[in-house]
Amino acid sequence: VGMNVQDLAKLLHRDATEIIKKLFLLGVVTNQNQSLDEDTIEVLAADYGIEAQQKAEEDVADIDRFFDDETIDEAALVPRAPVVTIMGHVDHGKTTLLDYLRKTNVTAGEAGGITQHIGAYQARLNDKLITFLDTPGHAAFTEMRARGANITDITILVVAADDGVQPQTIEAIDHAKAAGTPVIVAVNKIDKEGANPEQVMNQLMAYDLVPEEYGGDTIFVKISAKMGQNVDQLLEMILLEADVLELKADPTQPARGSVIEARLDKGRGPVSTVLVQQGTLRVGDPIVVGNTYGRVRTMTNEKGHDVEAATPATPVQITGLNEVPLAGDRFLVMADEKTARAAGEARAKRAREEVRNASSVVTLDTLFNTMAEKAMKTVPVIVKADVQGSVEALTGSLKKIEVDGVRVDVVHAAVGAINESDISLAEASSAIVLGFNVRPTPFAKSQANNDKIDMRFYSVIYDAIDDVTAAMKGQLEPVY
Ligand code: GDP
Repeated sequence: VGMNVQDLAKLLHRDATEIIKKLFLLGVVTNQNQSLDEDTIEVLAADYGIEAQQKAEEDVADIDRFFDDETIDEAALVPRAPVVTIMGHVDHGKTTLLDYLRKTNVTAGEAGGITQHIGAYQARLNDKLITFLDTPGHAAFTEMRARGANITDITILVVAADDGVQPQTIEAIDHAKAAGTPVIVAVNKIDKEGANPEQVMNQLMAYDLVPEEYGGDTIFVKISAKMGQNVDQLLEMILLEADVLELKADPTQPARGSVIEARLDKGRGPVSTVLVQQGTLRVGDPIVVGNTYGRVRTMTNEKGHDVEAATPATPVQITGLNEVPLAGDRFLVMADEKTARAAGEARAKRAREEVRNASSVVTLDTLFNTMAEKAMKTVPVIVKADVQGSVEALTGSLKKIEVDGVRVDVVHAAVGAINESDISLAEASSAIVLGFNVRPTPFAKSQANNDKIDMRFYSVIYDAIDDVTAAMKGQLEPVY
């Protein structure tokens, strides 16, 4: 072809020196003006092509960058409804409150239709909407946060006036604090005999929830979720707090948001309730949701009615995804179905790789850190040796090791070479494989390489014991 390094560099948009370096690594010594043969060019192009493809895959998989607030156009912002989560101790009335609101207040501006549980609904007070997430409890809340979905604007802390502050009340406060959401306290069950709302207020002061009448800035509303007493007042307070927060969103951009819940429906396939956070979601939109993708085939509200478009803070149930996403996954509308598919597939691939890499691989080198990270109580090992006597001697000594309360757990011990089954077991139980005067079969060796299983070989029992003990103490000398 008569192409030299410089021509190729131009073609690939790279530095000539970089190409020369790369060629050198491939075993070809050359200079700028030397013409390259076809094979070399092909190898180089393939190399760069793969790199470019990997980069493109990474870019397309990275939908998180679209959730960056910097991409928002201030001028396009309009007020949106607040998103509210209800938390509190068990039996303090969370479900009763959610049910009451659903029955009496739920409206998407239309009459009729029975409200179904889709994970969220909107209630209305004086023409203003409030979005309630209707899976109460802080476990779901924090699970979603762990996946990146910070969707709650305001937390309602329900505390029963006849029971006061309880362990899960405190947990809920800590979860709300960690999420940085303001808390409105609903002192519930005031209709009950023995109800003591004042005591609840006093107790909560210890957690920095001080009522306005005592000089604080926390809103308290005394309600009866069962009777509906003062529930309207609670809604008013939520709207008041929402005003303070100046909640806004831009309905004009491509929609993005989070999954509230998702499941597989026999007839309709993957069904997910999503909350739109920015933009407007429409039927037909190509979409990537977590590690799944598709096109919005149907979109319905909590009453099962079809909706054509969902604006910010609106929860809707959608179908049309290739798989079931996870609660807390984020979604993003893409330019076309092809891009959505590419993003979804790239993300699924990345997730599989992450699982494989992280799949609790335990190695002696990193044991000390892994023990701390995973709060390991035992260190699982598999022992293989040439004779039964060695198996027993090694197993016996290993079982005696104890470092800061952590012990060795011999998952499996036997005579013979390290085989595939040992490696599978090691993978499943996150174990380290110790071989005494034995080697792995070729198949086991390549499997161990693939699965990144740590295998160690010894011919002196004392060395094996010494290594494991040192690794557990974080004092293992690295071997090069
Ligand atoms: P959750 O575990 O926080 O969801 O609590 P629930 O909503 O299931 O309520 C627990 C029990 O308290 C149920 O028997 C409710 O009927 C009752 N309950 C809830 N709110 C009130 C209330 O305002 N007054 C009275 N008297 N009982 C209530």
